[in-house]
Amino acid sequence: MCGQIVPGILGYHQGTLKKMKRIVLTGFRGTGKTEIGKILSSRLNVPFFDTDDLVETSTGRSIPDIFHYNGEERFRSIEREVVATLPPADGVVSTGGGVVTDPTNMEHLRRDSTLVLLYADIDTIEKRLLQKPRPPLTNLPLSEEIAAMLDSRRQNYYASADFCLDTSETSPVVAAERVQALLKNGVSSLQQRKTALAFFKTGRIPPVPLKKLEEILVGDTRSPTTRIMGVAGYPCAHSLSPKLFNALIKQYHLDYHYTWFEDPELEEIMNVARAVDAKGLSVTIPFKQDVLAYLDEIDEHSAEQIGAVNTVVFSCGTAIGYNTDWLGIRKPLVSMKGAKAVLLGAGGVAAAAAYALTDLAMDVTILNRTPENAHALAERFACRWGNWEDFDRIKPDLVVNATPLGMQPDTRTPLREDQLHKDMTVFDLVYTPPVTPLIEAARAKGCTTITGSEMFIEQAREQFYLNFGIDVPIKKMRELLA
Ligand code: NAP
Repeated sequence: MCGQIVPGILGYHQGTLKKMKRIVLTGFRGTGKTEIGKILSSRLNVPFFDTDDLVETSTGRSIPDIFHYNGEERFRSIEREVVATLPPADGVVSTGGGVVTDPTNMEHLRRDSTLVLLYADIDTIEKRLLQKPRPPLTNLPLSEEIAAMLDSRRQNYYASADFCLDTSETSPVVAAERVQALLKNGVSSLQQRKTALAFFKTGRIPPVPLKKLEEILVGDTRSPTTRIMGVAGYPCAHSLSPKLFNALIKQYHLDYHYTWFEDPELEEIMNVARAVDAKGLSVTIPFKQDVLAYLDEIDEHSAEQIGAVNTVVFSCGTAIGYNTDWLGIRKPLVSMKGAKAVLLGAGGVAAAAAYALTDLAMDVTILNRTPENAHALAERFACRWGNWEDFDRIKPDLVVNATPLGMQPDTRTPLREDQLHKDMTVFDLVYTPPVTPLIEAARAKGCTTITGSEMFIEQAREQFYLNFGIDVPIKKMRELLA
């Protein structure tokens, strides 16, 4: 088998000679990327590229020398140039351990490629590094440095994984065989995929996307490297996430498909997501709190502060929860630090809003139909609280609507026209319709307005980054959603 390209492996489907997708190995130093990469390239008879070697050949200097005389920043900039000029197909690429922290690198590496994250336990990495010393990245003792670096890069490594392989207990030859097997077969069995398809057929996925999903899961030309992700909610057929994410997937040449995981039972959704080896989920109503029980790791914002998760990334057998809603609310308001704000509503999104507004040092009052809920939320974020009638005495600079009032087909506004004035900024988190009755009324009064689409775009941009490590320009996000 050595030196031959075998039909059925890596893009050679059912005897049709398609071009092989590039294989990119990511992971911390000492996880075996170079050795495994060389074996893979020889077995597949394709060229091998090592970004560290390319940095050294392109500069005529060793990496320790570049680190010593020019520092890490210079090294990273040379590395970025090397990554940008890698051939786009037919090859195996072994990457430097820190490559994944740069979104531009990720954009280049992910294009038409399958990324395999190699990992190992800290003791194994330490033993391997002691055999072949490399320049230290910190002033810490080696095992502490490994733990600290793995921790700080954890999210980047997860985002760099289409597939994962633990190399702690394996020889490079066995690891290379396992990578080939992963790429040939994928992770889920035919039975699991058939069961998942039956689940998707009970949802409200429109006929054309459902046909595509069927092809990906059980079709004759199925590629085992194509991964699935989607929006989890009930109902969620109205969600704009599939449109946006599939456009991003196309834009960045990713081997992914984004669909709807619509079901009243979260348990069922999580089972199907694991069965199809889903890369990630965007979580929406009514599961943002319930999903916490299904996660192995939760980021500090979601767990300790907001108490809700809207993004799940599955990687290396681990389900990690994040909250990007608060960033979607914070970003459009960064110029309003310290403002006097009224937050309407005290539900799930209001918690993310309260976190974002207090993070911007605003003086926040939460008003809600059920004042006890406003009280409970206000206590968590050290805000003021009240009921609807209190609005007129507050005279806020900013109003954030976190209720569903005005969401299609509802045409109500949470505030009367006379409660709006031109010095006010009005941020309506409702994004269907794109211009809500509240935004329309606020514009008529000369207020500065921010629509729910801005939040949607910003939170989706963060979700995309958490899944793929790519930083999409906000302009591109707006274009793709238009
Ligand atoms: P939620 O947890 O159900 O909370 C809804 C809140 O609105 C509660 O405080 C509820 O008050 C209040 N409310 C409900 N119906 C009301 C009514 N008729 N009059 C006055 N108050 C009412 O919902 P959520 O997850 O926070 O979502 C709220 C809205 O945010 C959604 O409808 C959606 O449009 C929007 N959203 C936008 C984005 C985005 O990306 N732009 C993302 C997510 C959500 P009680 O406490 O009295 O029940």
